[in-house]
Order: sequence, then C-alpha cells, then structure tokens
Amino acid sequence: VYTQSLDREAVARLHLEREMRGALERNEFRAYFQPKMDLRTGRVDACEALARWIRPDRTIVSPGRFIPVAEESGLIGALSDAIMREACWKAASWARSGHPTKVAVNVSALQFRNERFAENVLRVVHHAGLAPQSLELEITESVVMADPDRALRIIKPLREAGIRLAIDDFGCGHSNLAVLSKLPFDVIKIDQQFVRALERGDAQGAAIIEMVLALARTLNMEVVAEGVERREDMDFVAARGCHWIQGFLFGAAVSGPEFAELLRRQAGAEISAEDAA
Ligand code: C2E
Ligand code: MG
Ligand code: MG
Repeated sequence: VYTQSLDREAVARLHLEREMRGALERNEFRAYFQPKMDLRTGRVDACEALARWIRPDRTIVSPGRFIPVAEESGLIGALSDAIMREACWKAASWARSGHPTKVAVNVSALQFRNERFAENVLRVVHHAGLAPQSLELEITESVVMADPDRALRIIKPLREAGIRLAIDDFGCGHSNLAVLSKLPFDVIKIDQQFVRALERGDAQGAAIIEMVLALARTLNMEVVAEGVERREDMDFVAARGCHWIQGFLFGAAVSGPEFAELLRRQAGAEISAEDAA
C-alpha cells in the first residue's frame, strides 16, 4: 500500500510538472499584486508580486502548490523570470501613468544559487525601464543565513545599482545577529506567524514583534508586518514603529489591471480631498 501511494504521488507530480511546462509556454503564470500600506502616510505606494497560475478554465492555482514542484524540476528559473519581468514592466507602466509604486519580487533558493542572478535582474529592470529604486527583492531569512558570505557577494551589485533588498519570513530561520548587522538589507518582513500569535493573544508573539522592531531600528532597517488582518494588529505594530503593513486588512493580491485601478482610485480620492480642503 505504501509503495502504491508513493507511486501515485510521483505520477501526480510528474503530471503536474508536464502541465506546468505547457502553462509556461502559454504564459499562464502571472504576477498578482498585494498592496502594502505605508503607515507613515496611510497610502498604498508599494506592493508584493505573488505568482498565480491562471488555468484556461480560469481556475487559479496558488504558489504553495506549484513552487515546490517548480523548484524540484528546475522550472522555477523560467517561472521566476516570467514573474520578475511582468512585475517590472507593470511597475514601470504605473510610474509612467503618474503612480510610481515600489514592487517586491520573491527570490527562490534556486535562483539565488545562480551566479548570474544579479546580472539577470539588472537586465530585466533595464529592459522594463523601471527605476531600480522601485524594485525590491525578497529573499527568505533561511536562504540568506544558509550562506551569508555568498548572499553578500550576490547582492552587492544589486545594491550598488539601487535595488532594495528585503529579508522575507523573518523570525522563522536562525539569524545570527552579528551577521545580520553586516548584511546591507533595507527591509525586514516579520513572518505572518507572529501576527497570528498576536491574534491569539500570545504574549510571546507580541514580544518577538517588539524585539524585531527594536532590532530594525538599531540596524536602520524598515519593517513590514505581513499577514495583518485586523485593525488592532495594525495599531499594535504602528505604535511600535513598524513602517509598512501588508495583509487582508488592506487586500489580497489582485491582477495587474485591478491593482492599477486601485492606484487610480487612490489618486482620485486624494485629489478630491485636496479640492474639498
Ligand atoms: P510570502 O512571500 O511570505 O508571501 C506572503 C503570502 O501570505 C502570500 O501567499 C499572501 O497571499 C499571503 N497573505 C498575505 N496577506 C495575508 C493575510 O492577511 N492573511 C493570510 N492568512 N495570508 C496572507 P501566497 O501568494 O500563497 O504565496 C505563498 C508563498 O509562495 C510566498 O510567501 C512566497 O514565498 C512564494 N511565492 C509566491 N510568489 C512567488 C514567486 O513569484 N517566486 C517565488 N520564488 N516564490 C513565490
Ligand atoms: Mg514574500
Ligand atoms: Mg513572507
């Protein structure tokens, strides 16, 4: 029974992998954009690009299902390139229409292992005509800490070009604080699990969030709280100096055209507020 179920799983994976190859050719992997709100201004002026697989029957597959298969099969390179390209081209077009917005893109462990990673990113940014300051790369804490020297070497040319760098899912891995202070990251993203802990009234979760915010202040880094769903959690992190929040409180990831509409609506609301004043 055991081998049979293993076989079934292997077959299902192979099948998914084959489907994904076709989907890549048909451009079915698309970037969706989740708003990030700047707590200092109350404006959405940044977002995170999240991969979605839009099937021909319009069903949407989330990355939890296809990223692991993409990593195992090596398809992650092509997939990530597609998301990076779309994110950079969309952000460049929002800037051209008067709504400059930062876009963050997730970097997979496998991409980070490629010696030409920085070169590839810089080429995409250049082709898209995007200001490098508008792109942020999210690298998970575990990937960074697995080999900090290598991380430093890979991000150096990106940093010099003006691209922003964020440590994703912070608090899940094992950060060496001495190493962290030497890595030139701009942003720390507090992992969702700590915000979930806040919701449960778990004092330890609250203490970890406070510690990360204090650490970031000392290291001169900005902080994004991820997975914020309730106003009281936003107030909690805002009162402790958090810079950005991202979460269902302000919206899930939406398609490029829907996100552009959100930016237009926001600008429209600001103009009518000015007129009223
Ligand atoms: P992540 O980078 O930590 O992204 C945040 C995830 O949390 C997203 O899930 C997002 O939809 C979800 N989320 C945001 N706000 C809330 C909230 O208020 N409550 C809850 N419960 N969840 C929230 P998603 O889109 O399923 O992505 C999962 C992970 O897949 C991402 O985690 C990232 O590690 C990976 N991923 C997504 N897109 C890409 C990509 O283009 N390339 C690579 N390499 N990885 C990607
Ligand atoms: Mg991320
Ligand atoms: Mg995260």
